[in-house]
Amino acid sequence: MAETLFSKIIDREIPADIIFEDDQCLAFRDINPQAPTHFLVIPKKPIAKLSDAEEADQALLGHLLLVASRVAEQEGLADFRLNVNNGAGASQTVFHLHVHVLGGRPFSWPPG
Ligand code: 5GP
Repeated sequence: MAETLFSKIIDREIPADIIFEDDQCLAFRDINPQAPTHFLVIPKKPIAKLSDAEEADQALLGHLLLVASRVAEQEGLADFRLNVNNGAGASQTVFHLHVHVLGGRPFSWPPG
């Protein structure tokens, strides 16, 4: 997979406000927040997008969701929204899998 901004954040080549890290993933604040709290959870494994994940990634994908929820709680969020953009047509701009976690304001449905 081609190097992306997010692999550079993992490697500390570019700075980010990192709020959680373990051996499998990293969570950091989005540079252009769409809510009072907006952070991204990314795997350290370079997976370009969700549809590229394989059966072997099942536990990793579950881990990303658990970390998203626990860091949201750490951030004081009871209600929050997760979003994964898969592909350019779904507004994905950085091709390293990431889970958006947004909170601190009301969210409507459908998302638009
Ligand atoms: P996507 O549109 O691919 O789902 O989301 C990419 C997200 O990454 C966007 O919300 C954008 O603001 C964020 N982003 C892009 N470049 C950087 C960066 O260099 N640092 C941080 N912290 N976030 C970034």
